[in-house]
Amino acid sequence: MNLKWDSQLEEFTQYGGSSLERRKEILSAMRDQFSQGKNCKACQGFCCTSFYNSMQVTILEAFDLFFYLIKENRMTQDLVENLKSNVKKYRLDYFLNTGRNSSFRRSYTCPFFVSGSKGCTIDPEFKPYGCLAFNPLKENVNSEGHCTSNIALLERRENLEDDKLNLKLQALLKLNWEKESIPVALLNLIELFEYKT
Ligand code: SF4
Ligand code: SF4
Repeated sequence: MNLKWDSQLEEFTQYGGSSLERRKEILSAMRDQFSQGKNCKACQGFCCTSFYNSMQVTILEAFDLFFYLIKENRMTQDLVENLKSNVKKYRLDYFLNTGRNSSFRRSYTCPFFVSGSKGCTIDPEFKPYGCLAFNPLKENVNSEGHCTSNIALLERRENLEDDKLNLKLQALLKLNWEKESIPVALLNLIELFEYKT
């Protein structure tokens, strides 16, 4: 199925509107930690590289990123090419079933990660929940093994409303996934809406 971006715009932008609301609690916890000096300033961003990153997003989170990139005029042909080569390099489109309804999560360096002081180039209000909840446990972290994911916070954030919206979007867009890597999820939406860069 392909949707014409122009004609379907109104129908789908509503989903991006709740982006901040859905991240409020995680953002607040993250900012609290940062204010105590437990931030990523001294780190080169291990968690965003293929050594540690296997981030997957729901359809709703993919929409948040999609609308954010459009708003920021970052949905360019270069970005699309970058996403495609990322998928190819890390074989993100290669599905490996591990049984019991689960699949192998592939690691990849996030296409939105810029090494050096810049790090992640996505505004926190639009970042995947899992990225926001993964933070250092102490000050001045600059090596691996000193950060953790706040699972309790992520579990608290999950709610029926999100589940319903994700299921609705999945059915509406006839997508065969509930969670995907960031590049695959974005490319799916770009192709689906025939988004012209
Ligand atoms: S969460 Fe940890 S590994 Fe990731 S950038 Fe911050 S300090 Fe580095
Ligand atoms: S979105 Fe940002 S924080 Fe998340 S994996 Fe990509 S670069 Fe890292």
